[in-house]
Amino acid sequence: MEFNTTQAIKNNYSMLAAAEEVDVTVLAGQLQSMGFECMRCGECCRSHQGDNSVIVFPDEVLRIMDANNLSWHDVCKPSAPQFIDNINTLHSFEWELKRHDNGSCTFLNEDNTCSVYFWRPWICRTYPFYLHFEKDQTPRLNISECEGVGMGVFSKEDAGNLALYLKERLISEIQEEIQLLEHLDGLENWEFFNGDINGNIVKFNIAVHDSRGCTVVERDIKSNSKE
Ligand code: SF4
Repeated sequence: MEFNTTQAIKNNYSMLAAAEEVDVTVLAGQLQSMGFECMRCGECCRSHQGDNSVIVFPDEVLRIMDANNLSWHDVCKPSAPQFIDNINTLHSFEWELKRHDNGSCTFLNEDNTCSVYFWRPWICRTYPFYLHFEKDQTPRLNISECEGVGMGVFSKEDAGNLALYLKERLISEIQEEIQLLEHLDGLENWEFFNGDINGNIVKFNIAVHDSRGCTVVERDIKSNSKE
């Protein structure tokens, strides 16, 4: 079935309206009843337990860059491309934080603290919790794997702050998606990318589409999986 950008934008506006209705007090109560305490294990900042990619929005990247005197490509890389066009340009729709070869986030310190703690992205700020749209189009609280869940007592203030962050994160995600879709051009001419690059190609371009438009990054095949 062909992707319908206009319909996707419309759907996202409905989701945005639902996200804006999230009751922070109710959400905070759910968080308090679950309980949580960060065990400082650093597992969420490594990737050996599955895909812990940290998706980042442009404003989050810019915040880390400005505060730490880093370049865009010091902070993030294109996420796995999902489409390919007729001139072998790959297309991705997200940026993710860079990782070392061992899978750890480049901002993870040896003592499991975060070197960009005050500027860390929404995902890190709210982990292991997130709001997810269920089939009835209502955002509900979900939890990623984490040994800290149920381990401590949330103060009312902490639960309230986290509930607010979760709501703001969801709204930001949907707004990013809407702006991305509004900038998107040419999707109907692309094919799904199955991960295979033509063996003769040693360098290729990845076009990353985000709320600001499109950024083209040149990659060589060897470095693709490691950056
Ligand atoms: S930015 Fe900080 S909190 Fe987020 S994954 Fe990296 S080290 Fe962990």
